[in-house]
Amino acid sequence: MEEKGYDFVRVRAHGKINLGLDVIGKREDGYHNVKMIMQQVGLYDGIDIKRLGLCTDGKRYIDIETNLRYLPVNENNLAYKAATLLMDEFDIQESIHIKIKKLIPVAAGMAGGSSDAAAVMKGLNRMFGLRLSKKELMERGVKLGADVPYCIMGGTALAEGIGDILTPIRDIPPCYIILAKPGINVSTKVVYSELNVDKIENHPDIDGLIRCIQINDLHAMTKKMGNVLEEVTEKMYPVIKEIKQTMLSLGAINSLMSGSGPTVFGIFDEKDTAKQAYDSLKADERCRQVYITDGGLSNERYQFKYQ
Ligand code: ATP
Repeated sequence: MEEKGYDFVRVRAHGKINLGLDVIGKREDGYHNVKMIMQQVGLYDGIDIKRLGLCTDGKRYIDIETNLRYLPVNENNLAYKAATLLMDEFDIQESIHIKIKKLIPVAAGMAGGSSDAAAVMKGLNRMFGLRLSKKELMERGVKLGADVPYCIMGGTALAEGIGDILTPIRDIPPCYIILAKPGINVSTKVVYSELNVDKIENHPDIDGLIRCIQINDLHAMTKKMGNVLEEVTEKMYPVIKEIKQTMLSLGAINSLMSGSGPTVFGIFDEKDTAKQAYDSLKADERCRQVYITDGGLSNERYQFKYQ
């Protein structure tokens, strides 16, 4: 067979926040039907994939290397699962090495694992010349997790169903986003199991939120932000509410927990205010990881300058 593709690919796996998260109901299969506004952030994990060729022992290896010692490097890593999915389907017998430079907080409501999986799928598509369209990658990605199709698509989107029915929305107005994760890890499963869908009192106005994005009004958009999981996670970890209040006192237009938490984000409209808030939060012992970023694709200048 003719040799195709590339020996090395580098892909960015961007994290996401939820500007809005509503839970509509519980399904019989245990999943929840949601209505969420997903927003990609500039913070990303670096994914490098190297092609190792055919091994002399006839076996196929998927080697994973990461800068975080506690992350699995075996079949439990979502990057490994993503590679297996595509390589099995296309009968690729060559071995590969995947290096993950993890910056996105882990188990933090930012879909870091899903984004790594999405990036590996995109990278292998290019590396082995599979010629799968975005839509075809997304159809395969959902087998790995409900957030994977969105991570393949990126940008700003309405996510419905279990999070996999996606409608793109225009970009949000320019702003600075500060991400602060306290030193606790939250299980998405536990948060959803504690949520009583019939007793949710304050459903965020997701349609109103979309309208504010469409008219490019940052202040109106932040007023409409809301997350029904916040109350559940805050009850378990009051530090989340404290960090939100700190964000507001530091000049955020608004602040919210992302996904099932515990990452809190603050939206700022002024660069200097955002930078000062970032410096304060960096020195705040309640915050384990703090980043300043935006909703774009190529904003790593903030991420690396102020990290
Ligand atoms: P979501 O926002 O989709 O709920 P999350 O932020 O809560 O995601 P992740 O950071 O994706 O959670 O990771 C959750 C778990 O998945 C961790 O406990 C981790 O051990 C496991 N995991 C497997 N592969 C990865 C990966 N590549 N990156 C991060 N976590 C991974």
